[in-house]
Amino acid sequence: MTETTIFAENALLPEGFAANCRITIAGTRIRSVEVGAAPMPGDERVAILIPGMANLHSHAFQRAMAGLAEIRGPGHDTFWTWRDIMYRVALALSPEEIEAVAAQLYAEMLEGGFTRVGEFHYLHHHPDGAPYDDVARLAVAVSSAAADSGIGMTLIPVLYAHSDFGGAEPTAGQRRFINDREGFARLVEASETAIAALPESRLAVAAHSLRAATPEELAFTAALRPDAPFHMHISEQVKEVEDCLAWSGQRPLEWLLDHAAVDPRWCLIHATHMSETETRRLAATGAVAGLCPVTEANLGDGFFNAPEFVAAGGTLGLGSDSNILVGVAAELRQLEYAQRLNRRARNVLAPHGASNGRTIFAAALAGGARATGIGTAGLMPGAIADLVSLATDHPALVGRSGDRILDAFVFGASSSPIDKVWALGQKRVEGGRHVDGEAIFARFRAATATLAERI
Ligand SMILES: [Zn+2]
Repeated sequence: MTETTIFAENALLPEGFAANCRITIAGTRIRSVEVGAAPMPGDERVAILIPGMANLHSHAFQRAMAGLAEIRGPGHDTFWTWRDIMYRVALALSPEEIEAVAAQLYAEMLEGGFTRVGEFHYLHHHPDGAPYDDVARLAVAVSSAAADSGIGMTLIPVLYAHSDFGGAEPTAGQRRFINDREGFARLVEASETAIAALPESRLAVAAHSLRAATPEELAFTAALRPDAPFHMHISEQVKEVEDCLAWSGQRPLEWLLDHAAVDPRWCLIHATHMSETETRRLAATGAVAGLCPVTEANLGDGFFNAPEFVAAGGTLGLGSDSNILVGVAAELRQLEYAQRLNRRARNVLAPHGASNGRTIFAAALAGGARATGIGTAGLMPGAIADLVSLATDHPALVGRSGDRILDAFVFGASSSPIDKVWALGQKRVEGGRHVDGEAIFARFRAATATLAERI
């Protein structure tokens, strides 16, 4: 088993920053953490070490369309006009192209401090809608990309069966996504095979949304792997809330909390439009709210009730969703800035006297670990060896110590101070760049150079 020892002048341990830490990695796990130590010959030396974070929600192929949906159309552009372009991209990509896009994305995630991806995978079939001979062909594509980049993989196969509430027929643009219950059960099995060789991989299961799955399909899907995390999009858009009210007389979360046994294994993506009652009820279930702040801003979704949710004991985590922009600091900054703009206040999410950067980093670290099935994360013995070092010669970090390091990382660094990143115990980023970044980018460029003309 390979062993690496890192000596950090400052390291963020679960109880806070500590000086002079020696952290020994054996294989994919942290074996020991020694505080107040002296460096030894052969140690890898870093200035600041923080835990790598799990990104709980990604649609990898959408990285290929970053910037392609920013031209104003003839009417009122919304999530739904963005979705038309996204469907065209989804229909244009081959398995090899999807793998190349995902590898580029995962390399960028590692460079941005995400060491695990929860891939909410709903692109399943040939462009004409027929299943591949291996029904998990595109799960194999994203899993190969995880292997090439070295990121930890939590694969989340998604049941997508309908176009709207009440079991409406899928549209032509959705044909690569669609499965019935039997087909989906086969896909879940094949997905387990697809990730079997990846170290520390995890499987979760998802229903796309209350639009895309009937109550019966939702219950079937949630019961398929009862010990695995279960994910679903919910209440991202006002129209979705209105359509749910028309269908059931209830708001989406209200309906879900009355009809499903939502518990800590659930991860509800967005949960943007919640009443005060829904906010309190969701917090009480222990489910993770999977927030995707940069995408939610890009799509004009609205504001999550974060202060009330956190005050009620709710658990949150971060996803990069459409992958329009990728990085831990960008997501945390947008999470807090959306609240500031909405409340016309500062330092909204931290308790009085506490650092905002540290508070939201720690919350997202814990929520991401739970929602991606690894349980806990952090610089502690037994945890998966996901670590990120920051360079102190970055202007934002000069003279910063303790929790102010995280405040500077989240709010003050216009270029990334991330230096080295270890994922699953392997060093994948050095000097801020992925060690195989050139080859990964060459494949990405070949796969996507003509995409704008093809869609
Ligand atoms: Zn999503």
